[in-house]
Amino acid sequence: MLREVSQKRVLPFLGQITRGLSASALPEQVQYDPQTSSVPTPQPAPFSYVPPGRNHLFVPGPVNIHERVLRAMHVPGQNHRDPWFAQFFKDCLEESKLIYGTKEATPFIFSGTGTGGWEAALCNTLSPGDKVVCFRYGLFSHLWIDMMQRLGLDVQVVDRPWGEGADENTLEDILRKDTDKKIKAVAVVHNETTTGVTSDIAGCRKAMDAVNHPALLLVDGVSSIGALEFRMDDWRVDVAVTGSQKALSLPTGLAFVAASPKALEAMKSAKLKRVYYDFADMLRTNPSGNVPYTPSLAMLYGMRESIKMLREEGMENVFARHHRLGEGARRAVEGWGLQLLCKNPRWRSDSLTVVEVPEGVDSNKIVKTAYAKYDLSLGIGLAQINGKVFRIGHLGNMNELMLVSALAGAEMAMIDAGVPIKPGSGVGKAIEYWHQTSSVIKTRESLVQ
Ligand code: PLP
Repeated sequence: MLREVSQKRVLPFLGQITRGLSASALPEQVQYDPQTSSVPTPQPAPFSYVPPGRNHLFVPGPVNIHERVLRAMHVPGQNHRDPWFAQFFKDCLEESKLIYGTKEATPFIFSGTGTGGWEAALCNTLSPGDKVVCFRYGLFSHLWIDMMQRLGLDVQVVDRPWGEGADENTLEDILRKDTDKKIKAVAVVHNETTTGVTSDIAGCRKAMDAVNHPALLLVDGVSSIGALEFRMDDWRVDVAVTGSQKALSLPTGLAFVAASPKALEAMKSAKLKRVYYDFADMLRTNPSGNVPYTPSLAMLYGMRESIKMLREEGMENVFARHHRLGEGARRAVEGWGLQLLCKNPRWRSDSLTVVEVPEGVDSNKIVKTAYAKYDLSLGIGLAQINGKVFRIGHLGNMNELMLVSALAGAEMAMIDAGVPIKPGSGVGKAIEYWHQTSSVIKTRESLVQ
């Protein structure tokens, strides 16, 4: 069951995918030859054309940004040393607790991305050579493990098939055998954005408790926090991480990290080198509303608005909305007669849907056609499942009618790519489900009584 799998199995795909991504994501006027150059060379645009309407952004991050958030971010340059900033920043930190479901943890906001949040989680709590257990079931869990290894941690990698999640029984078994309590941390990617799999963090905590194991529980919530149920205090997560471009529906650029009292205690003896992501510098300055380096004010304004919107909606409603969206997408896949990569319903993600395409069809062709013909951005299959699946992101600032446009676009692009699909088969299933389950917007209830 347990196997230590070398990076070689996954890494050869990374270069391929990175190159593929760079090439397809570049604006038309930039020519980029991955064989000869690592830096794109700007070329005169032969013809500039912006299609009417808007691009339909349905990758699982970066996601759509609400106009309220965009407007909140539209601010002139300001000085974060002026007196207003301290209370503003303290409020930002306090407000961020909402997304983790915590009252007890200490929140941090770094300029950076989810990857920076990973580093903060590890460097602030662990020492070189410390033993960490981590499940690997997609590109992101792989990359976090790669970071752990590069930082000098001793990682017990538990490989799982791509399309499955963390196996609590295996975890319990590993921890039971660790009688000397050598394992210092269990690291879990809550929502694996490669495969559309959500692991059960409460279940992992239960497995740890069942054998009374003192390891820290470090959780990557990059594509779950703010969209899917996340209860940091109840699950006793020690460090939780997310990035601004996911469920918070902001531009990329902030890493959100929260640390439990136990994690802050572990920090005192943690010997991994840390500089930019050192909690200690934040703990020295944040309580008085200060920051150790220049903050991104526009992002903080955006974040405050985005969390305000989540609070207005209510987190339980946010989770329910994501479930409705996810279920609608899954019904569409069923209507198309296709399969999800995630076969077991217990792990199906409500933040994205990963669709397997039939043998002989290249899913990259579907993604390219969707963009070229319908101005729809879908997610490609990553690493070893490139060409075999495509991903529909439905996390963050999203509603049913937005998602139905992606389902319609995916449907048409699949037909274009030769998938035998009846027009309307997937969209029909989704709307059949949504018209029965969607609720009236809170402030408009009186209109339909
Ligand atoms: N973890 C997960 C689950 C992700 O989906 C991603 C990015 O998509 C990351 C980590 C890395 O985050 P970033 O690209 O913001 O560094």
